[in-house]
Formats: sequence, C-alpha cells, structure tokens
Amino acid sequence: MSQMFCFQCEQTAKGVGCQGACGVCGKQADTAEMQDELTGALIGLAKAANDAEPTTEIHRVMIEGLFTTITNVSFDNDAIKKQIEKTEKAITDLVSRCNDHSSQYHKNYHYNMNELWTADEDIRSLKSLILFGLRGMAAYAYHALMLGYTDEEVNQFFYKGMRAVGQGGDAGTLLPLVLETGQVNLKCMALLDKANTETYGTPVPAKVSMTIEKGPFIVVSGHDLYDLYLLLEQTKDKGINIYTHSEMLPAHGYPKLKAYPHLKGQFGTAWQNQQKEFDGIPAPILFTTNCLMPVKGSYHDRVFTTEVVAYPEMVHIDEKKDFTPVIEKALELGGYPEDKRMTGINGGETVTTGFARGTVLSVADKVIDAVKAGAIKHFFLVGGCDGAKPGRNYYTDFVKQTPKDTVILTLACGKYRFNDLDIGEIGGLPRIMDMGQCNDAYSAIQVAVALAEAFGCGVNDLPLSLVLSWYEQKAVCILLTLLALGIKNIYLGPTLPAFVSPNVLNILVKEFNIAPISTPEEDLKKMLG
Ligand code: SF4
Repeated sequence: MSQMFCFQCEQTAKGVGCQGACGVCGKQADTAEMQDELTGALIGLAKAANDAEPTTEIHRVMIEGLFTTITNVSFDNDAIKKQIEKTEKAITDLVSRCNDHSSQYHKNYHYNMNELWTADEDIRSLKSLILFGLRGMAAYAYHALMLGYTDEEVNQFFYKGMRAVGQGGDAGTLLPLVLETGQVNLKCMALLDKANTETYGTPVPAKVSMTIEKGPFIVVSGHDLYDLYLLLEQTKDKGINIYTHSEMLPAHGYPKLKAYPHLKGQFGTAWQNQQKEFDGIPAPILFTTNCLMPVKGSYHDRVFTTEVVAYPEMVHIDEKKDFTPVIEKALELGGYPEDKRMTGINGGETVTTGFARGTVLSVADKVIDAVKAGAIKHFFLVGGCDGAKPGRNYYTDFVKQTPKDTVILTLACGKYRFNDLDIGEIGGLPRIMDMGQCNDAYSAIQVAVALAEAFGCGVNDLPLSLVLSWYEQKAVCILLTLLALGIKNIYLGPTLPAFVSPNVLNILVKEFNIAPISTPEEDLKKMLG
C-alpha cells in the first residue's frame, strides 16, 4: 500500500488517486490515514447502532465525523483524533447498552478502510458513491442541526449506508443503495431549506457589491448561516463590516441576515482563488466550513476556524461561539485605508443572488407565459463546485455562448466563473439567476418540478439542460439525488470522478444518459437540438 490513498475529489492526482506523501489539496498522508481511521470507526458506530438505538448525541457524532472527512475541511490531526475518541466513546455507549459484550467484541466493530481501497473496482466504486454521498449529506444535516432541525429518516440512513460500506455486497444490493443515498439526500436538503427559510426568511433578490469599504472588516467563508448570524450579532455597533466569501454569498438574500447594515458585500471569488485573494489582507477570515486551502504565510495570523473546520496552529472558535478573537483581530488590522474596488473574474463589480424557489415560483405565471410565447426558449442549470483546473473555463464560455432567449439558473461556487457577467434580462428578470448554495439544488429541483407540472410533462421533457461542475462530496450527493429522481441527460465536468469504474459509468450512461462535457459549442448544439 502506498503512503496514502484518497480519490474522493475532482482534483485527485492524475485523475486516479492521491497516493504520495501529500494530496493535491495539501492533505498530508498521516492526516489521510487518520481520516480513514475515523471513517473505519464510524462504520463501527453504524454496526453498533444495529444492536442499540443511537441517541441524538450519537447522531451528532456520526454527522460531525463524516463532515470532518470532506475535502478541504480538516487538516488538523489533533482535531481528527478527538473525533475518533468521540466515536469510540459512542460505540462503547451503544455496546454497553445492548448486552455484556467484551472489549474485544467492541474492537471488532472497527473497519479497516484498506479493505475498501483494495476491493474489486466495481464494488469499490459503488461503495465510494455511497460513502462520499453520505459525507456530503452529513454537511447538510449538520447545518440543519445547528438551527435545531433534524430528521430521523435522514439520521438512520447514515447508519444503514455506513454499514453497507463496511460489509460484503454485490452490485445488485449496492446499486439500489446508491440511489437511496440520493433519495434520502433530497429529504436532507429539504430539511436544510426549511431550517434556513424558517430561521432567516425566504430569500429575495439582492445585488451585492464587491467593493470593500474602508475600515475594519471580517471575511466569512463557508456555508454555515448560523455562524454568520452570530458574528453579525456580536459585531453590531462595533464599526466592523462583514463580507461574505465564496459559498456564503447567498446569505445576502435572506431577509433576517440582510437586515444587518454592516453585512456589506462580497469579498473575492471562489474558494480556489483564496491564497491569491487573501494575500496580505488587512482583516481576519473566518472559515465556517470548507473549502479551506493550506494557509500562506502572508495571512497565517488572521485565519480563524470554527465547527469541524480545523487547521494546525489556527485559532479555533469553539462551541461557545465567542468570536472575540476574530473581532479583536479585525480592529487590530484596521482594514483598508480607502475603499478598495474588487471585481469578479470577468471584471464585474457587483453580483446578484437570492433567486431561490420562493422568488422564481412567485413569478411562475410570467415565466410560463414567456415560454409559451417563445420569449424563453430554454433553461440551463449551470451549477456545482468550482475548482482550479483550466478546463473549468468551459462554464464561463458556455454561459457567454447561450442564446439571448435562454435563462441560466445557477447555484454553488461554480457560478463565480460567470456571475459577474451582464448578459441581459428577459421580461424584467435577469438571464442569470443565482439560486444559492450547493444545497439549494433543492430549490432548483422544486422549480423544475413546478414547471413540469405547469406544462403537464416530466422534468426530462422540459426545455431544460443540466450542466454541472463537481469538485467535492456535496456535489456527489446532489448528483445522486438528481439520478434518484430519474433526471437524465446531465452533462458533468470538468472530468468524471476517478471513483466511478468503467462498468459503473456504463450503467450511469445506459440508465441516465449522463455525459462528460465536451466543448460549449458542441454541447449547446446537442442541448438546443
Ligand atoms: Fe487528493 Fe482530493 Fe483526497 Fe485531497 S481530497 S487527498 S486532493 S483526492
């Protein structure tokens, strides 16, 4: 066995797997090994949960543990070790409640992940789809949990799925579980949608400036709206402005968050540009979730982490959520002396967001009339994660080449490739509509289902094409949800996942007609017939 093995994200080495001393993302081999140990322990927890009913606290251990292993979340061995210890304790708790099993029996619950990495490639592929899908889903379950929302069916499926990863099985039993992961993830995204909208209101369209005003400020990255809310509360009347970064942009659409006047705008673009954009930044950055990249010396003293995000030597804000160290750092650094003009990657100075299902469906009649009258010929959902590869310019070029009588719905951080472009309006609506974070794929699904109902057809019969970009495991669970819903003809890029074996890919092509992206010109020709 090589020093490490990890192939869970799109940038995996040579499109095969990171196997050296360090992954492409900067994860060290010893960290990868600990993440495997944590995953093996979580499979043990799932097995133990077969014998005794897990408590709410144990559900949290499972969800946090899975979330910890997502790409660009934790680079900190000490934090992962603590998570393993929590998992061990939870196993002991379950075992002790079920009967008088010995400690030897307890140890047998653990799973050695090398068994998975060296398994038959089709079995490894199907189990990886389940495992990585569960990791992505855990992030959504975690955010919902932070707002006090939980769903027993979702919680129970984590154990069922993890048990399947850790035991035998063939394609006949694993394939249905792959799709079940997608079905349950739909419930999980619905739960988070409910949690976010009931807590912060239904998103409304918002135009967001990318200029950073002079004076102290804090940049908040990641997906956790609750952390942003707490920080907004704690910085009220302190003369500190708050700027969202990457996937936090959709926060500007939520009425209860946008009501804070010091939530000013958006800093920078997508996650993979952070080492350049944070270079020498006169402000602290708070990471609430992924994607955290290895921290450069020029801003090493101003990165703070919270929740399951962790990086060695960075200050971690614990569960008490006292953001004083972040606030003090903002005041110490003082921000820019003058307003600083920043732009998106195409030079635009503002971006828009807030076109979630509430907004789009409120003008559904207008949209349906526009389709019937031929003013809107086609919808594209161009969304997913961004990444560093040059091939991702495809998405910018694709959007630029879409005809003027088409609408682009987008979500997640892949939108930074084009969301500062002004490509015009149709009937008073912008042609590019940002539906939110990656989990707001739920919103896009609801809009597609409503349009299909209005036109009396299936989603696959709508004038709608899905052009997705993927990077990490949340994109995996969303893709599984779309497949579980029977959605066909998805274009996926920039490359296909390394963990999908040729035989499994054949099944996906045969059943769902999933296709890799080619060129914008060729793909548009096919989509528009
Ligand atoms: Fe490699 Fe991605 Fe795993 Fe990092 S998360 S080690 S880049 S496959």
